[in-house]
Amino acid sequence: MKLKTIREAKKLKGARVLLRVDFNVPLKDGKVVDDSRIRASLPTIEFLRKAGAKIILLSHLGRPKGKIVDELRLDPVARKLGEILKCKIKKTDDCVGSEVEKIVEKLEEGDVLLLENTRFHPEEKENNSEFVKQLAKLGDLFVNDAFGVAHRAHASSFGIAEFLPAAAGFLLEKETSELARVFENPAKPLVLVLGGAKIDTKIGVLKKFSELANTILLGGGIANTFLAAEGFEVGESLREPDKADLAREILNLANSHGCEFVLPEDVVCVDSNEELSNQPKTFAFRADAIPPNMKILDIGETTARRFSEIIKKAGMVVWNGPVGLFEIKLFEAGTKAIAQACAETSATTILGGGDTIAALKKFKIPAKKFTHISTGGGAMLEFLEGQELPGIQILKN
Ligand code: ADP
Ligand code: MG
Repeated sequence: MKLKTIREAKKLKGARVLLRVDFNVPLKDGKVVDDSRIRASLPTIEFLRKAGAKIILLSHLGRPKGKIVDELRLDPVARKLGEILKCKIKKTDDCVGSEVEKIVEKLEEGDVLLLENTRFHPEEKENNSEFVKQLAKLGDLFVNDAFGVAHRAHASSFGIAEFLPAAAGFLLEKETSELARVFENPAKPLVLVLGGAKIDTKIGVLKKFSELANTILLGGGIANTFLAAEGFEVGESLREPDKADLAREILNLANSHGCEFVLPEDVVCVDSNEELSNQPKTFAFRADAIPPNMKILDIGETTARRFSEIIKKAGMVVWNGPVGLFEIKLFEAGTKAIAQACAETSATTILGGGDTIAALKKFKIPAKKFTHISTGGGAMLEFLEGQELPGIQILKN
């Protein structure tokens, strides 16, 4: 099934276009500290402006839990977007209601209006049909560019598409086609690098790649769970003991598909009684010789070198999740090595995850060094599991 896109949309001139974007950006002291997500939707916004549409932007921001939270208002986002587009962005204090309708009525061709945080209404996440109707009556056409919430069937990202003609924006289209490369005869070897704190959201990807990939490289807290499941002492490291059976199941699955599953062979630890803020002494151990009082906080040098070599010889690399506590300099080396190997390899590189992207920023590695950096964390993972995401599914013919 093919995705309907704005390129095929007819009669954009003068049309009220409800454009769902993912402007869930980090704020500090009322200012946007990272505008990447805003910039990611510029091609769609500019296309619609040139076509003479009246653009009505919808987004969520943070987790207001269905209530008005002043710190999560979208005004700083409107200011930032105005700076980038060099034009005045109109902004309302709600996303539905008669006041909003009046402002929408006065919009002219090429105008850009940003509605208030959709998650101030509990009905947003519930995909409440009355709320959806209130949103839908503001527009003639719905365009979804919010890949970051494509895995959620919420009112503003999914529900509206049932009430209005709907199409994908350029960002959603690009994310979909770039990530789909994993399933479309990828250059081999296909390598998955997976890190991060917890296994929960990554089980599906691990299972899928156990079938698809030639190699899986594991680091981070997740790797500790696997090391422990394999009978290694991991001391006081972050791990999920109740996931040991699952870890063994995944190892068996990979084995039965001929996928090489690589766990860290050495690690960087600290004494678990040390305060991390006090620049504690670090210790390097082989993974089969970790003392019980220790806490693993990064992959070791040998592991980092081995992972890097595998990445450099790959045909395609998919990376999600830092392989150590990279936020603290003492434990950033592993993640930095992975990031550099991904930047240097000739393989196609597909990266994503909020903390993974934060790590790239910290190491000052420019985005152009990678084939594709996904704007979706959870959405990317679910897409790579091979799941149909509701927000995308509903835009297909
Ligand atoms: P992403 O947002 O890229 O998907 P996750 O949210 O899954 O990544 O995980 C990132 C977090 O995992 C980071 O905050 C990092 O510090 C943490 N982490 C990685 N390795 C370890 C470890 N060995 N011990 C504790 N935390 C870890
Ligand atoms: Mg994260």
